[in-house]
Amino acid sequence: MGSNVRALERAEVQRSEERPGRAEVEAAFRTILRWTGDDPSREGLIETPARAVRAMEEFFSGYRQNPAEVLQKTFEEVEGYDEMVVLRGVRFHSHCEHHIAPIAGRAWIAYVPSGRVVGISKLARVVDAYARRLQIQEKLTAQIANTLQEVLQPRGVAVVVEAAHQCMTTRGVHKSDVAMVTSRMLGAFRDNGETRREFLTMIGRTSI
Ligand SMILES: [Zn+2]
Repeated sequence: MGSNVRALERAEVQRSEERPGRAEVEAAFRTILRWTGDDPSREGLIETPARAVRAMEEFFSGYRQNPAEVLQKTFEEVEGYDEMVVLRGVRFHSHCEHHIAPIAGRAWIAYVPSGRVVGISKLARVVDAYARRLQIQEKLTAQIANTLQEVLQPRGVAVVVEAAHQCMTTRGVHKSDVAMVTSRMLGAFRDNGETRREFLTMIGRTSI
C-alpha cells in the first residue's frame, strides 16, 4: 500500500511538471464563462478568470506540499509517554476528482507513539496537504493514515473522516443531509479491539 501511495504521488508530481501557464488557464475559464451563456467581457466578469485561477491555486496548493516532510520534525523527550494521542475534528476543504465539486469535512486522527511525537499543527497540515488536491474521500483517508504510519512509525494510526460532498448535496441526487464516513486503522488500532474502542469513545462514536 505504501509503495502504491508513493507511486501515485510521483505520478501527480510528474504531471505537475507539465503545468500550463496562468494565461492558458485564464483563457480556459473565459471559455467556460462563454459556454454558460454569459458574456466574459462584461464588467462583473472581466477579472473573474484571473480571480478563479488564484482561488484554484489555493484549492490545489497541496500538490506543491510534501506531507512526509511536514512530519520530519519530531520530539523525543516525551518522558516515556506511550498513550494514544488524539486530534479531534480537524476541519478541511477539498474537491472531488469526479466533478471538481467542494467537499467539506472533518478528520479525527490518533496514533500511539513509540518514542517520538509530532506537533499537533503538523497533523493538521498533513490533512490540508492531501485535502487541497483533487480527491475521493477514501483515498484522502488512506493517504493521511499511511503517511503518519510510514514517517512516525508509531504503534498504530487511526483516521476517521466525515464529509459532505457537494456533488451529491447540490446536484445529482440532491441529498442535502448525507455525510460519508470513512476510516483507516493501522497497527494497534486494527489488531487490538480495546485500543480501537478507546479511540472511538474518545471521538464520541460507538462504531464506524
Ligand atoms: Zn463528485
